[in-house]
Parts: sequence; structure tokens; C-alpha cells
Amino acid sequence: MLHLHDTATGSVVPITPRDPGSIGLYVCGPTVYGPPHVGHGRFTLVYDVLRRYLEYSGYAVRHVSNVTDVDDKIIDRARAEGREWQDIAQEAEQQWWAAMRAMGVLEPTEVPHATAYVAEMAELVAELVGRNVAYETSDGVYLACDQVDGYGLLAHQSLDSLRAGERVAFTEEKRSPIDFALWKKAKPGEPTWPSSFGPGRPGWHTECVVMSLALLGEGFDLHGGGLDLVFPHHENERAQAVALGRTFARHWVHNGLVMVGGEKMSKSLGNYTELAGLLEATDPRAYRLLVLRSHYRSPLEVSQPTLADAAAALTRVDELARRAGGLASNLDSDLTPEAARNLDALRREERSRFAEAMDDDLGTPRALAGLLGAVRRANVLLDSGDGAGALALARAALELLAALGIEPLAGDEVPGAELLALAGDREEARRARDYAAADRIRTKIEELGWQVEDGPEGPRLHR
Ligand SMILES: [Zn+2]
Repeated sequence: MLHLHDTATGSVVPITPRDPGSIGLYVCGPTVYGPPHVGHGRFTLVYDVLRRYLEYSGYAVRHVSNVTDVDDKIIDRARAEGREWQDIAQEAEQQWWAAMRAMGVLEPTEVPHATAYVAEMAELVAELVGRNVAYETSDGVYLACDQVDGYGLLAHQSLDSLRAGERVAFTEEKRSPIDFALWKKAKPGEPTWPSSFGPGRPGWHTECVVMSLALLGEGFDLHGGGLDLVFPHHENERAQAVALGRTFARHWVHNGLVMVGGEKMSKSLGNYTELAGLLEATDPRAYRLLVLRSHYRSPLEVSQPTLADAAAALTRVDELARRAGGLASNLDSDLTPEAARNLDALRREERSRFAEAMDDDLGTPRALAGLLGAVRRANVLLDSGDGAGALALARAALELLAALGIEPLAGDEVPGAELLALAGDREEARRARDYAAADRIRTKIEELGWQVEDGPEGPRLHR
């Protein structure tokens, strides 16, 4: 059973689903005001792998991730560029999905847009005021955080220390510096929606509580996001649900941030790296592999050497897929019952090692190390001519890598049985020192559009 670190309790706990056999996962998605950066790539990959692993484990996963398509940043950029705010949001959202497709991130099962839920948000705000936990001022409606039981649970801080840490200027009317806007009253030139407090727009923290409860229902299983969202965003989402008397997320998962040159990556630090640039410059699978080599809660250092190292590991995966792909077609029928049993035992062993690592707080570094080790061993077995042993290991490793979203290069990159037979014949000719025959076979291989290279690990076929 999967265990995850729950930010609310500060410990690793078993994840038992609310509804047997299915998991509801809500992940805070992008505010679409510009192209996604490398940090966005990390969090989407982390939750993509969490979802894939839950599905691999047999759960039906309802994966909801929102798009914040109205926000100060969108409005500010639209004003600065003299464009419509909807234009900015649509353009940035297209850039977002293009990057997600390039990374092989599964599309969430639902993608609610904030602008489609404004009426529900206005209702929620009115209900909070009706319960006397929110109050109206001249510029909006605020939640009175000191009225909420357990405020500070996720931040692991008391109300007093949170108040003391808050240096943001607040208006006279705001009762406490930590109170936050549920509804922002209309300002000139801004998009507005109607509400019982007059025209305006919802605050960011109100979006996610409305959309997660609307789509996943009370007491949904997992709420995730980057570590930078714990406070105030997630604390404030939770506070609204608690103030309404509704059960919110049962568990909270947070991923660590991306470091560039030893510093937390952010726009203000100037080390902002666009995801599209990285995905063009390297194999997108290498970024996924790099992300999975760090534990999801640790900081991730993205640099040229770490990316190159991940890309090198992928060439070994691709090589194994090429070599084993050709074997698979003619090997199964030749197996003795005993060999078939051994093959099954090997696969079971790899699978259970994988599950053990992943169940322990999504231990992708250990799971990957095991799988890449199996890839290495399978390549060695192939070199030594143990086709059956290699195939079992290769199948187990490739199947489990695919469960993490790492697929070898596609079919036309895999040599078929004819090519493998030619490569085998050429190898035999070389061993018999019949170099003229070996050269003739090489020419045939080249005529089929492939190259054969003799390396320390034996001959390799590639396009
Ligand atoms: Zn959110």
C-alpha cells in the first residue's frame, strides 16, 4: 500500500482511499500569464508519476488540476501590453499544454477553469459572511482567520507567530494582517462578475476550495502542490472549508522546489528558465528521469551535467529495448516450461522491489536505481548470449519504466527479427574470422537503413 508524507501530520502515512478502488487527487495548476518554467515541469512530472503509480497499483484515479485564468498577473500583463486579458490567458494556456505534451504528462481527468466557477465562489463567500467568519470592507470580503479552528495546521505555526511573521501592509479595515481576500471588489478596467457584495472577482484561495469540493466531493483523498503553496494558499483553502463545516482533503502532499545554480528558482532571482527551451535542447525524457532521480520532497538541482547524465542512462534503456525487442518475437515459443517459470519469478521479483520502493513515500530514486540496474544486467546477459534471462529482465525493467512514464524510443527505432538475425550471422562470421562474409552482411544491414557498430558490449544496431 502506498504511503506518503502528509504535510498536515508531518509524518509518512498509509493512503487508504475514501472510496475503495479509487483515488481523488487535486493538484493546484498554473496561473496562465506566461510560458511555463522548469519548476512547473517538476511539479507536473511529480504528480503525473504519482497518478501513474496509483493507476499501476490498480486504482481508478480522478486527477483534477485547475487553470487560474483570471488573476492580477494576467490583468497586469494585459494592461502593459495593451491586450485583452483573455488573450494572455489563452496564449499562456496553449504554451502550458504544449510543454505538458512534450513531457508526456497525462492530461488531468478534469481541468476546471476558475472563470467557469465564479458564481459558486460568490455563493461560498456569502455563506462565510452569513456564518460570521468573513467580513466586508470597502475593497472586498475577507476571512477572519482567528475564527477558524486549527488555522496554521499546514504551516505548523500558531496564529500568533503567523501574525508576527506577516509584514504585508494591511488596510485599517482589515482586522488582522493574516486575513485574506475572498472577494475583490471591482476596480476600473478589471474583469468583474456579479455577487451579493457588488461586482468584483474571487480571490485565488477561494478558487481551489470551490473547484476541488465541486468535482471530488468532501473528504477527497489527496491535495497536492509545490512546497511554496503550503502557506498561505493551502492553509487558506483549508480554512474556508473548515469555516463552512465541510471536510476537506484527507491528506496533503507537497513537492520540493527546483534549484538553479544552488538557488531557489524564481523570476525575481533572474534564474528563470523556460521549460520549452529546456525541452527543445534535451530529450524531454531526460528531464523526467532527472526529476525522478531526486525524491519528490527534496530540492532538485537542474544543470547541464545532471541532464546529460540522465540522457546517457536513457540511451542504455533504448539500446536494451532495441536488442530485446527483436528477441521477444521468437523466444517465447522456444522456452522450456522450467525457463518460463524462471522468467516469471524474475519479473515478480523486479515488480515487488519496485513496489516496495514506490510505496515508501514515492521512492522514485530507489525504484529507478533498481530498474536501471536491471537494464544494465540485461544488456550484459545479452552480450553473453543468455537471451532468455535477458528477455525476462528486459521485459520487467521496461514495463516498470513505462509505469513511470519512461518509454524507449518508438517502434521504427527497434530492429526487427530479420535485422537481428543478420547481426547474429555477421557476429558468427567475425568469430570465424571470415571478414569478407562479415562485410557482405554489413552491407545488407546498411541497405535496410541500419548501422552496425562493434563496441565493448558487442554489436549494436542503430538507425
Ligand atoms: Zn490551489
